[in-house]
Amino acid sequence: MSSAAPIQATCLCRRNTIQIPTKLPLTAHVCHCTTCRTSHGTLFAMHTDLDSLPFSEDSPPTTLRIYQSGQNSGKAYFCGTCGTYMFASYFYMREGERHDGFCVSTGCVSLSDPYKSENPTAKLEDVLSVDFHCIIKDTIDGGASPWAGDWNKETQVQFHGNWEEPPMPSQQDAQELSEKHVYPTGRKELEGWCKCQGVRIRIARDDETKKYQTAICACDSCRLATGTDVVAYTWVPRDWAFFITKSESGTVEVEEWPTVWDDATKAKFGNMIIYESTPGKVVWGACGTCGARVFYHRYGKQKDGQDLVEPLTALFGANDTQGIMQLDFLDWTVSDDGIYWIEDAEKEGRTGIITKNINVMYPKWVEGLKNRA
Ligand SMILES: [Zn+2]
Ligand SMILES: [Zn+2]
Ligand SMILES: [Zn+2]
Ligand SMILES: [Zn+2]
Repeated sequence: MSSAAPIQATCLCRRNTIQIPTKLPLTAHVCHCTTCRTSHGTLFAMHTDLDSLPFSEDSPPTTLRIYQSGQNSGKAYFCGTCGTYMFASYFYMREGERHDGFCVSTGCVSLSDPYKSENPTAKLEDVLSVDFHCIIKDTIDGGASPWAGDWNKETQVQFHGNWEEPPMPSQQDAQELSEKHVYPTGRKELEGWCKCQGVRIRIARDDETKKYQTAICACDSCRLATGTDVVAYTWVPRDWAFFITKSESGTVEVEEWPTVWDDATKAKFGNMIIYESTPGKVVWGACGTCGARVFYHRYGKQKDGQDLVEPLTALFGANDTQGIMQLDFLDWTVSDDGIYWIEDAEKEGRTGIITKNINVMYPKWVEGLKNRA
């Protein structure tokens, strides 16, 4: 056995490929809290637990930026070039005692090359599994919990709200949260923002029967962009999507969604990290302060003759009093083949972590939506 690190963490732009010395197997928890959702731009975060960070907490590699929301909160570490949220330190109180924790975003994790050469048939899903879901209550409407949790796994606990409350006993319970929630009627606008509230987006419609198509993707790019294995996007005509900015004097401005992210546009939205993964074609936006993934923009993507932009759906759940799935505004869809790009997760040997289950459960949930009144 070599002493090489068995796993590594990689961001979207791959400037950060960080070796993580650790023992295997590893467990991940899936957190549905508002902080995690608005920090990653995903419906839940997948955090793999570590004994320590693979660098000094106060002096990470210079390719990472630190975000700390307050003196008494944990730290997030995200790539300064592409914005991927990679690591975090945090603590929580349980029965009056402080517990410190460290984690790496599961979507960034892969087996290291030395480990793969020593274990040529090994898959990440053999050594990394989800052991619990937590803070589901923060979603108000159940969020993704009716279909993201593997309810057949006895070892997988589903924490309803916090450590003091009993876990949710069944998938039916999660489904009921989703079915009971009532969204406001007549909404013409939906606003979302990142954890630090530095980036705020708005989507609008002229007719309340018009819903925006929302889909789930498991491709390598989405995973590496958010640190989470499955990601929800909403396809919105560019004319109906906006950035909301605030000037220093506090005046609120509604800015058009740019057609291209050229240098002048980047300067105008200076609080964002704009990363072109395919120059002139594909652009990713993240908050430059907190590292939340905010959007994906493929130039020239159209539907019905209109340019489309793709804000990360989960940001619209930032208002934690309303429920996060916005069924009155979003049309949750699935293709005949299931969620998008599951073949990427298969190729990486990681569908067993969460994606395979979602590919079974999510289409059923979408089917169930059609039967609702
Ligand atoms: Zn990067
Ligand atoms: Zn959380
Ligand atoms: Zn932010
Ligand atoms: Zn994708």
